[in-house]
Amino acid sequence: MRYMQIKSGQRLHLVYEPGEGLDPQHLIPAGRFSAPLCGRGLDDAGGFRMTISVSLGNACKRCLAVYAARAAQPQERTNA
Ligand SMILES: [Zn+2]
Repeated sequence: MRYMQIKSGQRLHLVYEPGEGLDPQHLIPAGRFSAPLCGRGLDDAGGFRMTISVSLGNACKRCLAVYAARAAQPQERTNA
């Protein structure tokens, strides 16, 4: 996982980095990152400011919640 800042001064969103993904069928290719886990979009050009490997204490809480839920329940839900 990496943290992505889309615009200066904003929170750091969690994203999957190359070789990671929600499941083995959706791994991120080399040189790319997923969109933020919380569903926040990138900027109008589809870009972002930077990625970093630590949260700097400024991680997006919605991203953290999604990540924790996926880690606790890696299997797809079947009781929908
Ligand atoms: Zn987020």
